[in-house]
Amino acid sequence: MTKRVYRFKEGNAEMKEILGGKGANLAEMTRLGLPVPDGFTISTEACMDYLNNGHSFTTELKKEIEKYLEQLEVSSGKSFDDPENIMLLSVRSGAKFSMPGMMDTVLNLGLNDENVEHLAKITNDEAFAYDCYRRLLQMFGDVVFGIDTSHFENFLGFYKQKNGVLVDSDLTAEQLKEIVVEYKRLYLEIKKQEFPQDPREQLFAAVEAVFSSWNNERAIFYRQLHNIPHDLGTAVNIQLMVFGNSGEESGTGVAFTRNPSTGENKLFGEYLINAQGEDVVAGIRTPQPISNLHETMPKVYDEFVEMSELLEKHYKDMQDIEFTIENKKLYLLQTRNGKRTAHSAFKIAVDLVNEGLKTKEEAIMSLDAQSVNQLLHPVFVEEALAKANVISKVGLPASPGSATGRICFDAATAKEWVDRGEKVVLVRQETSPEDIGGMVVSEAIVTSRGGMTSHAAVVARGMGTCCVAGCSELEIDEFLKVIKYPNGTLTEGDIISVDGTNGDLYVGEVELTLSEKNEDFETVMAWTKEIARLEVRMNAETSSDIKTGIAFDASGIGLARTEHMFFAPERLIEMRRFILSDSTLTRKEALETILSYQIEDFKSIFSTIEEKSVVVRLLDPPLHEFVPSKKEDVERVAKEMDMKYPVLQQRINELHEVNPMLGHRGCRLAITYPELYLMQAEAIIRSAISMKEEKNIDVNPEIMIPLVGMKGELTVLKEKITSHIESILQEEKATISYTLGTMIELPRACLIADELVKDADFFSFGTNDLTQMTYGFSRDDAAKYINQYVADGILPVDPFQTIDVDGVGELITVAVKKARTIKPKMKIGVCGELGGDPESILFFDKLGLDYVSCSPYRVPVAYIAAAQSAIQLKK
Ligand code: PEP
Ligand code: MG
Repeated sequence: MTKRVYRFKEGNAEMKEILGGKGANLAEMTRLGLPVPDGFTISTEACMDYLNNGHSFTTELKKEIEKYLEQLEVSSGKSFDDPENIMLLSVRSGAKFSMPGMMDTVLNLGLNDENVEHLAKITNDEAFAYDCYRRLLQMFGDVVFGIDTSHFENFLGFYKQKNGVLVDSDLTAEQLKEIVVEYKRLYLEIKKQEFPQDPREQLFAAVEAVFSSWNNERAIFYRQLHNIPHDLGTAVNIQLMVFGNSGEESGTGVAFTRNPSTGENKLFGEYLINAQGEDVVAGIRTPQPISNLHETMPKVYDEFVEMSELLEKHYKDMQDIEFTIENKKLYLLQTRNGKRTAHSAFKIAVDLVNEGLKTKEEAIMSLDAQSVNQLLHPVFVEEALAKANVISKVGLPASPGSATGRICFDAATAKEWVDRGEKVVLVRQETSPEDIGGMVVSEAIVTSRGGMTSHAAVVARGMGTCCVAGCSELEIDEFLKVIKYPNGTLTEGDIISVDGTNGDLYVGEVELTLSEKNEDFETVMAWTKEIARLEVRMNAETSSDIKTGIAFDASGIGLARTEHMFFAPERLIEMRRFILSDSTLTRKEALETILSYQIEDFKSIFSTIEEKSVVVRLLDPPLHEFVPSKKEDVERVAKEMDMKYPVLQQRINELHEVNPMLGHRGCRLAITYPELYLMQAEAIIRSAISMKEEKNIDVNPEIMIPLVGMKGELTVLKEKITSHIESILQEEKATISYTLGTMIELPRACLIADELVKDADFFSFGTNDLTQMTYGFSRDDAAKYINQYVADGILPVDPFQTIDVDGVGELITVAVKKARTIKPKMKIGVCGELGGDPESILFFDKLGLDYVSCSPYRVPVAYIAAAQSAIQLKK
């Protein structure tokens, strides 16, 4: 029989796969001798068995749980049935990857009408006992019976108001008893069932509910968002309860060993006196900073500091620790590597290396490559900020960044508005896991309640979305959709600007600009360049993009697309003359004018990139993209070109294609209009010559022919282009060392790579087209249904974003092998979107490609991914 249940003392931190992150770390803390309430973990495998077997609980599993329950009773000296020593348990989910708040938890399990009385007697505190019971009824009702918590909360709110009670902890025992009666009545009214009085029945039902919560809507959504596989399952942690709600010398809190927003090496956290864990995360009461604990319970504070230091050293990373104090005794309930902003991630990585806790390699591996984008977030322009009207400056800087958008008060509206192209800011009193869909699409999140560890703050930091939390000056009415603030009111749709770095809010749209890079970022980038084997180039052709890429130290240009250069009005007209005219002379003249423009274009590229490598791709899109389609435009162009409308329309009709993506484009254009590519090659060579003459810059252009699928295409074009270039060089008495290569964008090109390689100096995989052509998915339309494919598990991920290893990846592997059998040193790169995707970069690195090329802002992501891949491949 496979073991499905593990005592904490049987596990360790390496067992995340089966014990989940929480279970593995509880086990590790137990091993370290830290004060963890005893318990056991039901494995993720048990969860998957349960879900795959029609949600049925096997008798074996039941027996195994019973056995561990008995052991826990023996070692703790407590039991569900012992009036002197009642055993109460917490039941918590915990998957391999942390999914904060996405799955379910039940606390105080084991209480019933009888046990609550025993607990009151043991603790000599009736109010405490009934407070625990009403919490159990609410959580159990929500998690196991699916009774919406609003039923309980609305009643509680109403009851407190009616009786003039401000905070929950002021409720008397008698009042709590009345609340318990009503809560039990809600079970009958809504579910027509009693709350189960048998603690064992409660336990099994709670375990089943936690298993099932793996597949609740928000958990599935969260996994999709963070690329977490759906077949991992969640473990269930069953642990003896300790009570943070047992009076003024008890409490519960969350702390990070370093500041998760800034990375500052200082304990950072919050706690609530006389409260249970869920109160802190839910953000209902605003907690106190952990430093206050130093004054109120100095011994507990010192112990906590010591333990948190130990944990950070042990895990060699910043820890996020949950703790409970029960009558001045400290317990640890969870530790995990803390979620952090990109800004703090870089600072912490560099600090840990400097403190000798981590090697550079370990520090790089700890970074989420994609999160670098957050560091490059825009910031508000200082002068614009000085003029802006302040809404409030008392909010907490919960997740850095700056953003503007229209106010929405609920997740559904936020989603709807974003779908219609608006930018939104989600404003709520507090957020809950149900809001995740709206939070993801929002530019920023603002709440009036909750602290730095509230749901809104944690989730926003995880997503890299800017967030201001606990802005108490805002009176938010989510129902009437109004915000009152000290100097006015705002309503749904009004634009606000949010500064998550300092917690400030402004009326209207404040202008944004790019943020400065910081020192830690520079340090990490320097390490990645020492470690990465792959070169990282950029896809860029405008000077400003090229400058951005150079600032990120891209080693060159992997793809300069030339088509956009034809779209400026004065060029478009010439291009149209070339395409549409039936006079040879007109066409020749048009091309000569375009040539002079192109020479300037390439001079601009070359003078910016100087002697770094540069791949220039010859014209790629179908010609119809250059001609007008609407009748009035055709009439206007006819006039401009001095042609008759019907003649022009006829010519345009001839260019029309049913499947333009499979049409007359790429090198096919040059088979029918070789003069186009010859003109471009000439422009490249002439500008390289003038770079040399005017600026003494040695440009070595790599000229790239797109969409080749047949050897003959390349042979014919190569012959024409090289002889044209050679004649220019002879005429100018110049030498330019140029190379001529091809893009590999068609499955056929991969399969005949051993033939193509004979006519090419280099290959570059155009994975956008290669993916499109391999799947037969139109890259411009497929987004509409690919999400459904991913949701149904037909595709693991969108293959336009992450390499499809089995199909597209296999074709690339074949091509590389075939090419390098003939030319072992053949230079091969990637210039499709996948060139900036970390997972794909690992694949390309394994294949031994020379470089990846991506948009300039992804260059840092690609460097980190390339360094991470080099580290992994060395192992
Ligand atoms: C590609 O197809 O991957 C590519 C880089 O070319 P484009 O996106 O311009 O078609
Ligand atoms: Mg392409």
